[in-house]
Amino acid sequence: MNEDKLVSEFLSLVRVDDYKDTYSKDIIEGKYFGMPLEALIASEKRLLSESESGIAYFSMEYGLATSFYNKFSTNRAIGAGNKALENEVFSNFRLADYFFTLQADNIIDLPIYSGGLGVLAGDTLKTMADYKLPAAGVGMLWHSGYFRQKFWFKYGQAPEKMHWDLKSYPGLIPLKNRVKVSLKSEDIFLKLWKYYVYSYQHDYAIPLILLDANIEPNSQKAGELTDQLYRADDVRLKILQRVILGFGGIAALKELGYNIEKFHLNEGHAVFSFVEKARGVSQEGIEKLKSKFYYTCHTPVEAGHDRFSYHDLEDIFKKEDLALIERFGREEGDMVNLTLLSINIASSTNAVSKNHQKVMHLQFPKYKEQIKFVTNGVHPYTWASDRFMKLYEKLSSVFNGIKSNPNPMILAKAVELKDNREFRQELWNAHQGNKKELCSMLEKWNLDEDIFTICWARRVAAYKRPSLILQDVKRLISIAKEIGPLQIILAGKAHPSDNLGHTYINDMLDKIDSLSDSYDILKVIALENYDIAMARTLTSGVDVWLNNPLPPFEASGTSGMKAILNGVLQISTYDGWVAEAADKNIGAIFGYRNKEGEVGVESDLHLDDDSKDLYSALEQMIRLYYKTNQHPKLDINSAWIDMMINCIAVASHFNTYRMLDEYRQNIWKID
Ligand SMILES: *Cc1c(COP(=O)(O)O)cnc(C)c1O
Repeated sequence: MNEDKLVSEFLSLVRVDDYKDTYSKDIIEGKYFGMPLEALIASEKRLLSESESGIAYFSMEYGLATSFYNKFSTNRAIGAGNKALENEVFSNFRLADYFFTLQADNIIDLPIYSGGLGVLAGDTLKTMADYKLPAAGVGMLWHSGYFRQKFWFKYGQAPEKMHWDLKSYPGLIPLKNRVKVSLKSEDIFLKLWKYYVYSYQHDYAIPLILLDANIEPNSQKAGELTDQLYRADDVRLKILQRVILGFGGIAALKELGYNIEKFHLNEGHAVFSFVEKARGVSQEGIEKLKSKFYYTCHTPVEAGHDRFSYHDLEDIFKKEDLALIERFGREEGDMVNLTLLSINIASSTNAVSKNHQKVMHLQFPKYKEQIKFVTNGVHPYTWASDRFMKLYEKLSSVFNGIKSNPNPMILAKAVELKDNREFRQELWNAHQGNKKELCSMLEKWNLDEDIFTICWARRVAAYKRPSLILQDVKRLISIAKEIGPLQIILAGKAHPSDNLGHTYINDMLDKIDSLSDSYDILKVIALENYDIAMARTLTSGVDVWLNNPLPPFEASGTSGMKAILNGVLQISTYDGWVAEAADKNIGAIFGYRNKEGEVGVESDLHLDDDSKDLYSALEQMIRLYYKTNQHPKLDINSAWIDMMINCIAVASHFNTYRMLDEYRQNIWKID
């Protein structure tokens, strides 16, 4: 087919708004922002086909790593709002903080995510594309993203509004299609947008449909519903955001003519989608409808389950819809629990790790039989650094098909290379290369690639215990003096309404400041605005990834999975995915464990006991590190390098390919 024909076929399938004046510059000559148009045409046709049963994946947020993975090109200028801004640093070398910032010249990631849940959704869509499934994603177009973080010494974190430019973001297109959501006292109109998620080989693509309330004739208030992700200061707004995702998402799939037979809810945020489908359906029909819904629960933390009062819901929903919500989601008293609602309307509910399943069984004993688990994973081709991908490709006789097939499960064979001195050396070199890159980003803070470096970076929440490693700074100093110098990097945002989170950041900054005199042996650096691009540099660039949630409150956790793909060792509590890899010798496991059959108390953080345990684990690891890296000499036979190899082998399991295989076989029950 000639190239112009491809463009017109695409335009007959997808009603691009403002094509002529704007998007014709990027959808041109057989290409979609530099990627092949055939791939989009193929997947759009499958979604429209009667003979395929499509899967719709619903999520409030998507972290797609669009700044580096399958990055689109554009023939137009990219708006200033889409360029990464410079960040400040807060360290115990305050002079450098004062004079320097971290420069960035890259484009931002599509800012429609906040953290781990979004990254998981993004990694899932990418893998669905790699597997060429007839699937579509449904999400929200957040006009102000999540928020920008600013550190303030003696205060903690100040959230600032972020701005970006939708129209010039490469790969993002508005559609002419609109849908309507009908509520008790108003109608809300939604404009649809699309972002295509390409497969690793660029031979297939999954459309992600994004809902946008910021249009005429919506009231200003309604227009702001798709402004900021996870705004929590107003109950009505919180409910309406969920209504838009659920009602609006189903209406959008219908408007686009997609033939969807399976509806997957990534978290309960999208559960109102069931109500939209069930309206006016007979009892028999409702049972049939349930068989098409699947629900993944992501949190064992009580506050993580959305609860709304019947009274607040009554103000919003029409009678008929409210009756359905009450029937499936009402708890004792006057509350509706969206987790309960989701479990009741789905044919299958799953936790995201084996440990998390145990917790869910304790929390929802009545539903024990139907709650399964599928441990989370990460998309290997997003999170393996270029140096490690090259290393894996080079050993194609061992890692057969890692790139061409593509098949990350083959990484299990890494253990066969344990006696291969050349591999051990190259593995070390690749790691040092990544570490050098990280050190040069922090050049002004004098980071050194031959000094033991550890990182804690993720959402700042109490149960994740962000400043555990700073619990006893005197002990840290004596470790640095007696065993060897260390570099600690910390990063993460606290939800703006999480007051305890602010306290943690404040505590972190205070402790860092108190270490000013020890900078020669102990460098502690806190980075603002932890995001996907930073996560990639950190998870691949440090020696050890620190994960210290209070068990059993980390449902899975995924950042450690990014690290092991790059041979980065773990120091971790026994929780989430790590509990399933604890016997694989990938680092040190330490600290409190909840008793079998008990959830324990979330507010009892065990900071003193667990920090002592953490320091012992740290001492042991630092000793081994300096025994291994006696720069410029390397102990090639060190147990450290064995553990790096174990990490890579374990990454063959904790990835989204294995994860999607399990969803296909055990949850959706397709091929
Ligand atoms: C991977 C990732 C997370 C998730 O980290 P956890 O270890 O699961 O808490 C959060 N934020 C960003 C930006 C990430 O890339």
